[in-house]
Amino acid sequence: MALERAHGWCSPRSSVPASAPASPSTAAPGAARTALPASGPQPGTRLTEDRNVPSPHCWCGRGACNETLLSGPGLAADHLRHGGALLDARAIVDAARHGDTAAQATLDRYIERLARALAQVINLLDPDVIVLGGGLSNVTELMRDVPARWVAHVFSDVVTTPLRAAVHGDSSGVRGAAWLWRAHP
Ligand SMILES: [Zn+2]
Repeated sequence: MALERAHGWCSPRSSVPASAPASPSTAAPGAARTALPASGPQPGTRLTEDRNVPSPHCWCGRGACNETLLSGPGLAADHLRHGGALLDARAIVDAARHGDTAAQATLDRYIERLARALAQVINLLDPDVIVLGGGLSNVTELMRDVPARWVAHVFSDVVTTPLRAAVHGDSSGVRGAAWLWRAHP
């Protein structure tokens, strides 16, 4: 984390100077008081925190992609990488709810990573709502804890974006596909 902040990536908004001076080489006339310095926070993110734990490789050829960390199998693999037992995501969440400290740590990492990833969506798109689908949308703790965490990563003083679970749960993707089929037979 220290390295990321030194390079100006993923810094919490509290580190942005209130009156950051603009770089003379990039500032437009009259914009000097509002432009961020070239070394200031940028809209990027790294989802893994511990550089001593190898980043998971993704099918796309890169490492530590969202899919490798924020999916159910990604959560289970992260639990294993950090010394946890071979469990699926549902079992890890159940264990966390029953006081298993390793499972709680895994769920905490997941929440922080999801918060950082969705903060970038808010920074770029400012959506009216973010709806989670898939199996992990059944984890009710996410709707409460992720918005509490993304505040630190959104470049705004006020974040009102709600996080909701899909109405049709983890079947929402299949239902959507079925409706598209009816609309375009
Ligand atoms: Zn990838």
